Amino acid sequence: MGRELVLAIDVGGTKLAAGVVRADGTLLSAEKVPSQPRDDSEGLYQTLLALCQRVLDQAGVARAALWAVGVGAGGPMEYPAGILSTLNLPAWRQRFPLRARLQETFQLPTVVDNDAKALALGEYWKGAGQGARCFLGMVASTGVGGGIVVEGRLIHGASGNAGHVGHINVWRNGPQCGCGSRGCVEAIASGTGIARRARLAIRRGVPTSLRGAPTAVEVAEAARAGDALARQLYRDAGWALGVGIASAAALLDLDRVVISGGVASNGPLLWDPLYAALRRTARLDFTRNVQVLPSTLGVQASLIGSAALVFLGAPEGC
Ligand SMILES: [Zn+2]
Repeated sequence: MGRELVLAIDVGGTKLAAGVVRADGTLLSAEKVPSQPRDDSEGLYQTLLALCQRVLDQAGVARAALWAVGVGAGGPMEYPAGILSTLNLPAWRQRFPLRARLQETFQLPTVVDNDAKALALGEYWKGAGQGARCFLGMVASTGVGGGIVVEGRLIHGASGNAGHVGHINVWRNGPQCGCGSRGCVEAIASGTGIARRARLAIRRGVPTSLRGAPTAVEVAEAARAGDALARQLYRDAGWALGVGIASAAALLDLDRVVISGGVASNGPLLWDPLYAALRRTARLDFTRNVQVLPSTLGVQASLIGSAALVFLGAPEGC
């Protein structure tokens, strides 16, 4: 069996995606389906299998021609066992053994890892992280996550959780974070954090054109239209990312950081305060020169990342 074709899967809170990826990084087929609302774990697994069969058919690839299966999934999870307790996916919140099930179904080596780690590895493999020596791939969307790639190897940490850059703490007694702490990057720079801070400010009576419970996208629109509160929330988000990156750069001696995700796609609204905070905070010679760039992989990034878990991190048994 060749080492040419991988079945790539992305398990998220709102969608399941699958595709067939070739060893050169080409996506031969891809499709996604909603992962909600479904609270029966077996039903969701059958939905995933049907999706996998469709992308294999679309690519004209037989199961027997596959090398392995790579999965990026929302955490938390037991690594490397691939037992999911995905927080924002009710069907698989209670220890669903996805890796064992896929191994049994496909009779193939299977890697299941954190989706942010997979994204980082994909960005290093085929995106804006190519050629970096010590790389941090970040995602700023619903949450803020990340993965670290050193000399081409994904860093796992003691329990598989290395790279949780969203919980670098940047603000003493700052906004409440989902992890239980206050002032984490994620509490200030994630879509959830931005929306939550907007909601609280509206409730406190801060002058703004925003009403009720706006989304992070609506806050960005208001900021572009000149709303002072909305502008401040994105200034804070950029600042938190800049300070968090400066801290990570000092700890790891990073040469490049790439940020993907919806919050990162806001252009100067986010990136101007990010670069300003980075310049003010990263003052050592080796941190001053860290390159921080937006992602170039676009919508297929997650499947490329899932495949990279296999192609760059040869799973056991391959
Ligand atoms: Zn936190």
